[in-house]
Amino acid sequence: MSYTSEVLERVVAQNPDQTLFIQAVKEVLETLSPAIERNEKVYRQNALLERLTTPDRQILFRVAWVDDQGIARVNNGYRIQFNNAIGPYKGGLRLHPSVNLSTLKFLGFEQIFKNSLTGLPIGGAKGGSDFDPKGKSDREVMAFCQSFMSELYKYIGADVDVPAGDIGTGAREIGYMYGAYKKLTGLYEGVLTGKGLSYGGSLARTEATGYGLLYLTKCMLEANGSGLDGKKVVVSGAGNVATYAIQKTWQLGGIPVTCCDSTGWIYDPEGIDVALLKEVKEVRRARLTEYAAERPSAVYHAGTHSEGGVWSVPCDVALPCATQNELDLNDAKMLVANGCKAVAEGANMPTTIEATKYFQENGILFCPGKAANAGGVATSALEMTQNSERLSWTFDEVDSKLQGIMANIFTNVNETAKEFGMAGNYVAGANIAGFLKVANAMEAQGIL
Ligand code: NDP
Repeated sequence: MSYTSEVLERVVAQNPDQTLFIQAVKEVLETLSPAIERNEKVYRQNALLERLTTPDRQILFRVAWVDDQGIARVNNGYRIQFNNAIGPYKGGLRLHPSVNLSTLKFLGFEQIFKNSLTGLPIGGAKGGSDFDPKGKSDREVMAFCQSFMSELYKYIGADVDVPAGDIGTGAREIGYMYGAYKKLTGLYEGVLTGKGLSYGGSLARTEATGYGLLYLTKCMLEANGSGLDGKKVVVSGAGNVATYAIQKTWQLGGIPVTCCDSTGWIYDPEGIDVALLKEVKEVRRARLTEYAAERPSAVYHAGTHSEGGVWSVPCDVALPCATQNELDLNDAKMLVANGCKAVAEGANMPTTIEATKYFQENGILFCPGKAANAGGVATSALEMTQNSERLSWTFDEVDSKLQGIMANIFTNVNETAKEFGMAGNYVAGANIAGFLKVANAMEAQGIL
């Protein structure tokens, strides 16, 4: 049995109920074989893959808080510090009822490779809670965030572990958490990213994941003799990543025609109105029905997969930007049948393994999230640099660094795929390129 198969068996045996974590490990290990074969004896002897697939540390804690009715509530808090071979732990905090150990281990594992691909010195981590900020008052969100940080602060720090936002954790939540950290430690340091601009945040961080996704998509299309100009783009999600992916699609000459939230989806043949989308989702925190009510060209469908969902809309490019496993084999078949030529993942692991294989077998350009959505964490690392320097860069400075980083990621992924005999397989290119840097650092630092 190959070394990667042995390690996958070990992960399955040790984490039997953690399906998302197993899926993420499987997707990576299946593509690493050519890189492992070049150095298998040493990797085996040093149990490199066993160590890489086992988190450095898993922190689980109780988060007790009091709601507006005076009732005490309890949620689970987590921080998975997965690997710090190339830099301090870095990765977002997800606040969503679906959060469990498996979700956060999958996200933390992915984060190791993504952070490596940015070329910046950041290790992999992820955290969060099953707390749902939806429908909670500001005071309730603050009470939760303060309680969450009253435990988490013991394990993080500007040179130790720097959490950021993710689903359910936006500027409001980061603000409350940062205030709590400062109060508990007395330190004014860049311990969280995604902060407000008045207290250490970076310009362009809000836009970075969506913008970066489009910069990379443009590189991928151009490397294959095409471009974004006039292209019809189908986007899922209506949150941070989707909104700025839609905005940058317009700016680069494409036409974004869909978006969705967890209750329904919109097809707008005239193209999504970004200002209205932001007003509905960022300001009013409302449902997409409100977008449809104010936009005559938009058609609203209740239910995320009703009448085929966003992936049934004919397009040139598809950008899944909502959540994991939102694009399955049936969706992939619809996209290919309707003429889609390229898919780039804005969300983390939104495409199932079967759907990914179907795209690759049918000649669709496919870029995985760990490369395509790395602009967010890369800009978070730029926020850390600005905090260390006690400086603030302009929007254009940050945006131009982001463009350079995304172009470098694509070149690295593309060249690595070629070097290992899999030209055009950007999944393999991303996994191998991300892996090699971390593996080299782990080897150099000894068996830990
Ligand atoms: P947000 O919470 O801002 O937005 C998520 C959006 O997806 C919301 O509109 C949500 O709907 C929708 N959604 C959630 N679940 C479903 C579902 N099952 N079907 C359809 N729509 C759904 O999160 P982000 O935009 O920050 O994150 C989106 C993805 O991108 C995640 O996978 C995240 O890990 C990843 N990512 C985010 C980065 C960032 O910088 N923010 C960086 C890199 C990756 P509703 O409005 O109803 O909640």
